[in-house]
Amino acid sequence: LLSIPVPRAEIPQCAGCNQHILDKFILKVLDRHWHSSCLKCADCQMQLAERCFSRAGSVYCKDDFFK
Ligand SMILES: [Zn+2]
Ligand SMILES: [Zn+2]
Repeated sequence: LLSIPVPRAEIPQCAGCNQHILDKFILKVLDRHWHSSCLKCADCQMQLAERCFSRAGSVYCKDDFFK
């Protein structure tokens, strides 16, 4: 899970809400970009700002990934 500075020339689109991401930092997961508030566990909808786990194109919190 990476937080990367947004390049000025290119405004990425959020894979969660399909809006452009104008935040100072964006999340890059599964080769897609996300608002920090849009990256949520596919199971319990918990926000995954700090740590996430991916499987088959979906992201999960630690608890749901390992359960
Ligand atoms: Zn979003
Ligand atoms: Zn979860």
